Amino acid sequence: MEQSTLTLNKIILAAVAAVLLIVIIPLAMKSKDNTVEKTEKASMTLNKLTPEEERVIIHKGTERAFTGEYEHNKEAGTYICRQCNAALYSSEDKFESGCGWPSFDDEIPGAVARKLDADGSRTEILCASCGGHLGHVFEGEHLTDKNIRHCVNSISMKFIPKGQEVTTEKAYFAGGCFWGTEHLLKRFPGVVSTRVGYMNGHTKNPTYKQVCEGNTGHAEANEIVFDPTKTSYEDLAKYFFEIHDPTQVNRQGPDIGEQYRSAVFYTDEKQKQIAEKLVDQLKAKGYKVATELAKADTFYEAEQYHQDYYTYTGKEPYCHVYQKRF
Ligand SMILES: [Zn+2]
Repeated sequence: MEQSTLTLNKIILAAVAAVLLIVIIPLAMKSKDNTVEKTEKASMTLNKLTPEEERVIIHKGTERAFTGEYEHNKEAGTYICRQCNAALYSSEDKFESGCGWPSFDDEIPGAVARKLDADGSRTEILCASCGGHLGHVFEGEHLTDKNIRHCVNSISMKFIPKGQEVTTEKAYFAGGCFWGTEHLLKRFPGVVSTRVGYMNGHTKNPTYKQVCEGNTGHAEANEIVFDPTKTSYEDLAKYFFEIHDPTQVNRQGPDIGEQYRSAVFYTDEKQKQIAEKLVDQLKAKGYKVATELAKADTFYEAEQYHQDYYTYTGKEPYCHVYQKRF
């Protein structure tokens, strides 16, 4: 599909969704038990915060310079989100900047979202999984070869020494516009981080424009890193089948084209068998499942502006809603 047509479709749908929301929200507000709230909030397990942690992480405060516990920490390990445990930074990317806060010149792929700060000039950084405030990111200071400084509040993170990190697994799903599926999948308990990208096509390093033109064979896909001690691949895959419509062929709602097909790209035989079992269960319930099951090929990460699209833009997804199917 042409990008312009796609954009137009999205705008029209967003407008329709906005009108619906104006009607629906006042009704939903009356009931604490509405599905939207359940899917958006209750499905993510967050750690309880102290008042000082809350001041920084929720209310976007800043801890006093030179006071944080990790400023000079040189131990090898991983820095995770204080609020949701998502892995954010590796000690390998930490450097001494002298600025008074822990500094990193790189992030764990997909773990950190960026947003124009309320002050209108700086770039705020947030945990891509829970939206917790981390600090700010600066470029062009020439402090390291990468020329980037993530200036992070110690209190927004928790340090896990090397060897004590949780071993994670990956899952790959495609179910229409990857903005919407990512927005919902990253809220699932046990999901550590997510990225959007292009998979299982026949060209190398595709761009969004090429994929939208529909000739590369790629699907808009999500890479999900999850903690197998908190969730299983089966529970995650079930949830995937419930946040998109697996009966639609080469489309998902308003988005039409092979790149919007429903697919599970399995990484091993175990994932394949689970996906087959779930498809069989859905078929037994009468769903004409169109989901492609295929071995995961190369995952090409999409352009930065597609990552955590809804967190970054503050918009709400129009294309995916949770519907119980199992
Ligand atoms: Zn978080």
